[in-house]
Amino acid sequence: MEFALFSELPVLAGHGARGAIVRILRARGVAVHSGRKVVAVGEDKIELDGGKHFDAQASVWATGASAPPWIAQSGLATDSLGFVEVSDTLQSRSHPEVFAAGDVASVIGETRPKSGVFAVRQGPVLARNLRRALAGEAPEPFRPPSRSLALISCGDRYAVASWGGLAVQGAWVWRWKDRIDRRFVERYRSGAAES
Ligand SMILES: Cc1cc2nc3c(=O)[nH]c(=O)nc-3n(C[C@H](O)[C@H](O)[C@H](O)COP(=O)(O)OP(=O)(O)OC[C@H]3O[C@@H](n4cnc5c(N)ncnc54)[C@H](O)[C@@H]3O)c2cc1C
Repeated sequence: MEFALFSELPVLAGHGARGAIVRILRARGVAVHSGRKVVAVGEDKIELDGGKHFDAQASVWATGASAPPWIAQSGLATDSLGFVEVSDTLQSRSHPEVFAAGDVASVIGETRPKSGVFAVRQGPVLARNLRRALAGEAPEPFRPPSRSLALISCGDRYAVASWGGLAVQGAWVWRWKDRIDRRFVERYRSGAAES
């Protein structure tokens, strides 16, 4: 069986772990094709922008986050991809009485990836700002970290860590990720997370 990864953009563009992940994919026999958009998937083939075809018995789509269409229809100001445009206080640019956080929101002037790291950090600020708005108080701004840690599991208890332009990898990185993930989920099981 042969595996291939097709990606319009370079795989993990902007991540320090990019080179490590591409090497790991190749070492495991996954052909990496980037720079062309997939424009059609048939029963047994994939077509790329420009007309090139590849045989494919099974395809798995793993695309980025997208905004539900009703947001643009609602009259809320959106960015070019249809996500709610918010100020750093997580208030809609067009309707400040509407708050948005997480994947569905795009903070004006911020070009962060849609990721749980930012969604989770915005949660407490959103909760406090909703309370402040109801109390007639000024909202607080969300200050994202300048860089965030990405821990990428490779599926066999091996992982790659990406921090800005830096990358480290190994079984110990997977154990580190596993501990963080379990601790995070446990907070919600025990009801200890901020409500
Ligand atoms: C496979 C996968 C792996 C990921 N791995 C990571 C990772 O390792 N690290 C990381 O940081 N991020 C990761 N992410 C991204 C992360 O999951 C998201 O950034 C994060 O969940 C965004 O949180 P959110 O609360 O904004 O949105 P979501 O978690 O998507 O929550 C939105 C909720 O709104 C509900 N909803 C939508 N429309 C309506 C409606 N009309 N009425 C009522 N409810 C509605 C949805 O059902 C959903 O429960 C991953 C994402 C995917 C898909």
